Amino acid sequence: MNTIIIITAPSGAGKTSIVHHLLHKMHEQLAFSISATTRTARVTEVHGQDYYFMTEPEFHTKIANHEFVEWEMVYQGTYYGTLHSELQRIWNLGKVPVLDIDVKGAIHVQEQYGAQCLSIFVQAPSIQALTARLQQRGTETAATLQTRIDKASYELSFKNNFDAIIINDVLSVACAEAENLIIHFLEKNTTFNHGN
Ligand code: 5GP
Repeated sequence: MNTIIIITAPSGAGKTSIVHHLLHKMHEQLAFSISATTRTARVTEVHGQDYYFMTEPEFHTKIANHEFVEWEMVYQGTYYGTLHSELQRIWNLGKVPVLDIDVKGAIHVQEQYGAQCLSIFVQAPSIQALTARLQQRGTETAATLQTRIDKASYELSFKNNFDAIIINDVLSVACAEAENLIIHFLEKNTTFNHGN
């Protein structure tokens, strides 16, 4: 069975750190699902590695052609989406895609793939902790910081829609929890071919 791991969270809850840990630790089984976005690349970001960066017309053409499993305008004027071709690329490698996506997108993927998904919601210990994390990251202006915090408060209300909730207080503990959940899920859902 083709399976999917979804890691979702309000922005700043630390899900990307958990995703990095998982991809490093479990690189033989897992691969990062590279999303499409119309956002401008940050200085350290690479096309085809962090995101497939594209123009809005390109993104709209892909919507019209039904190329997305899900897509969202995550922030005003900025689109993000998971391409069917991306999941297939990873399944063709014999690996499990790890989706680092927003809460609404995660719900849409679950609606389509049901029991094939393990969805993990990462929660920051508090809104104060979340604000501090976003400020520390230093990628936000005052306006985008407020937008992300407002969105995070709203997204917290969806946490019970997911298979598991991890509270990211101590990162190493949260990483170990995520790893255990995934190992257990893959053990249950992987059909081994014993070759006889
Ligand atoms: P950032 O701009 O910080 O890279 O990402 C902003 C938000 O968009 C994050 O919460 C991230 O998880 C989410 N995101 C990234 N890719 C996708 C995607 O393909 N679909 C959806 N729905 N959200 C995404």
